[in-house]
Amino acid sequence: MINIDNETIEFPCPHCGFYNAIFFKQARLRDVIICRGCKSNIQLDDQMNECRKVQRAFRRAMQELGKTLKNLNIKINI
Ligand SMILES: [Zn+2]
Repeated sequence: MINIDNETIEFPCPHCGFYNAIFFKQARLRDVIICRGCKSNIQLDDQMNECRKVQRAFRRAMQELGKTLKNLNIKINI
């Protein structure tokens, strides 16, 4: 199973515009990161719990994919 916690996200620093790469898990846990461009602290924010929504949607999509592949196997085996 793919763990999206280990997927990377890039976003521009609000101070200098430098694109920083973070793991999805860091965004989910609202981590503080240091910008690699200007060295300022950036507090990651997830006000609307978007990370949880994305995780849920991803899990559902993977379950659907699993069902589809299972159905495909049955058709192939017949
Ligand atoms: Zn910066």
